[in-house]
Amino acid sequence: MLDFYAPLTNLKGIGPKTAKLFEALDIKTAGALLYHLPRTYHLYPEPTADLPQAVGERIAVRMVSARPISTKYTSQMDISIGEGWVHPEDGASTRLELVWFRMPFIKSKVLPNKEYVFYGELKHTKASAFSIQQPEVYTPQEYETLRQRPQPIYSLTKGLSNNAVAKALAQLLDDPSLTEEFLPPVLLQRRHLIGFHRALSQMHKPDDLEGLTEARDRLVYDEFLKFFLAKEMEHTGAAGVENGWHFASDAQMMKVLEGLPFSLTEGQQEALWEMKRDIDGDFVSQRLLQGDVGSGKTILAFLIMLYAVENGAQAAMMAPTEVLARQHEKTFQSYIDLFHLPYDVVCVTGSLRTKERNALNERIATEGGLFIVGTHALLSDTMRYHSLAVVVVDEQHRFGVRQRKTFSQKGENPHVIVMSATPIPRTLAMILYSDMHISVIRDVPARRRPVKNAIITKERRKMGWDFIKKEVESGRQAYIICPLVKATEQTEAQNVMDYATRLREYYDEKISVGLLHGRMKPEEKDQVMKDFSEKKLSVLVSTTVVEVGINVPNATVMMVEDANRFGLAQLHQLRGRVGRGQWQSYCVFVDASPHGKESERLSILANSNDGFHIAGEDLKLRGPGDFFGLRQSGDMDFRLADIFQDADLMRAAAEDAKALAAKELVLSEEEQGRLSEYMRRMDTVVYNNL
Ligand code: ADP
Ligand code: MG
Repeated sequence: MLDFYAPLTNLKGIGPKTAKLFEALDIKTAGALLYHLPRTYHLYPEPTADLPQAVGERIAVRMVSARPISTKYTSQMDISIGEGWVHPEDGASTRLELVWFRMPFIKSKVLPNKEYVFYGELKHTKASAFSIQQPEVYTPQEYETLRQRPQPIYSLTKGLSNNAVAKALAQLLDDPSLTEEFLPPVLLQRRHLIGFHRALSQMHKPDDLEGLTEARDRLVYDEFLKFFLAKEMEHTGAAGVENGWHFASDAQMMKVLEGLPFSLTEGQQEALWEMKRDIDGDFVSQRLLQGDVGSGKTILAFLIMLYAVENGAQAAMMAPTEVLARQHEKTFQSYIDLFHLPYDVVCVTGSLRTKERNALNERIATEGGLFIVGTHALLSDTMRYHSLAVVVVDEQHRFGVRQRKTFSQKGENPHVIVMSATPIPRTLAMILYSDMHISVIRDVPARRRPVKNAIITKERRKMGWDFIKKEVESGRQAYIICPLVKATEQTEAQNVMDYATRLREYYDEKISVGLLHGRMKPEEKDQVMKDFSEKKLSVLVSTTVVEVGINVPNATVMMVEDANRFGLAQLHQLRGRVGRGQWQSYCVFVDASPHGKESERLSILANSNDGFHIAGEDLKLRGPGDFFGLRQSGDMDFRLADIFQDADLMRAAAEDAKALAAKELVLSEEEQGRLSEYMRRMDTVVYNNL
């Protein structure tokens, strides 16, 4: 019997060494492994006869051999070669060469005059014929069965194979105690959901696409239900709490508003008045401020915070990282200087030394009329606020309801504004943020020149590098995004480590190239971002961790490698890092798909700059097989659920959570206990919260 918290070494065949490998993937317990869901699934293709069209792809061919396999022995190794293939239907011959290394036994497996399906990557050979090395061999029947089954592909680490993960998982799935049902029957029936054990089994070892889809639905529902139950339980309770803040003056706010070097867009103005009306209202407010990247949310935060500050209160803005917090501090300070405002801005982060930290804490506990910016550190137990009236949370998706509540409790019921660049349609936002008012900035400042886009194939990559070189020589900077941190055997996708090395060589060390990825320590990441924003680095090779809100106006090129692997919405967010300054900016999407198949999809980006439109198109284009590969990353911190694609399940779960909270749906004590216990487990083991 295993339980959710059991260490992996309790599994057969997993010793301390293998456990360490799993740990590198953040998997320390049986429960966490159970939820290590495949990154994507591989579907074996239908056998093809059209070889010229398929060079460079992994294909299946159905062939009959006219001759036996022949094996050559060299001093290094033995090579088995099969030639003389004919099509089973019409007997036409095909100039295809199949090659196996160190597999002399293959000739007793692949016999003449019999039909087989071979699977592997098709290459062109010199003699203008085709070749597949190390093809997998199946009988037509075997291959048909295989084709029904999506093959799970896991995130791995060096030394840990896909097979090893699958094997460990098989043990967990054999142990029913781990996957006992926790949803009450009434919900399962109401939403036509499959059982928990079946769901996890089908996720890890799907029988077919249908089984996989049902399994995913069930787990997505679980995830939404958990989200909405937590929300019901931790209801911030803002509704109906009396507003204790009464501000008499808006003179400074108006002065800044009128003196800005630009005028606010209509959308910005509307949002600003909505926020002000909240703060002047009878009740404590919570508002979601949604606006595409570059729509100018920061200045709004400053203005509304100034309203509180000029009335002797405090206003705080929390950013997800130290770099962003420092960036806001600088922006705020520059407005304060520009308008000679008699207020200070302080910045609280985890990296402050104790002495500085204590001094800051003391100020914040005793001084009104203060701008405060910072990271999570703003929430820490040691923080006491003198008169916190307004809290702004930047780039919301990393902060949960719980943090919002902590903030509310720290101050004397401050107004909370959550800013987000995720383009969620209003109807969905109203469900996800049912406890908040919503403002949407629909427009983007007009003076900005739209980013120019180019889609290139990987063969023309160096054109991108040369272009970046030219921009750097005229003083600009560039980002290059790669999907992977380091090389893996599973894919040929670009990784930042090797890429940076190659780029440095290409530039002959004349251009400074920095490196950024999620496995670096937070301090290291901050340092790199700092160097980049201070122009000590000209080119930043990064995974998608490069911050959503980062503002380096001098960066004018965003080059995305393997752009075909990303969702359009995500690419749009990445593009938002450039086009922030006075210079024309460029986005180069490298389409590495065979024959540039993805270029059409990518061209949607080139033709639109509207995040809402792009997210919608992205969704339309996804087929059933894409459900796993193209998930929006990071949004809302759901592991599996996608608010667009799973909107129906989201609505259902929200309804059910409400009904449970309102006791319209009544569970037995036992049912209630099991559900709560499970939600707790998910929190600690799967989401690593608390
Ligand atoms: P985001 O909404 O993505 O957080 P920012 O607040 O970082 O965007 O704004 C991006 C840039 O646009 C900043 O340099 C900001 O000064 C500028 N900006 C904001 N509002 C306007 C406007 N109405 N007109 C022109 N520029 C603006
Ligand atoms: Mg921002």
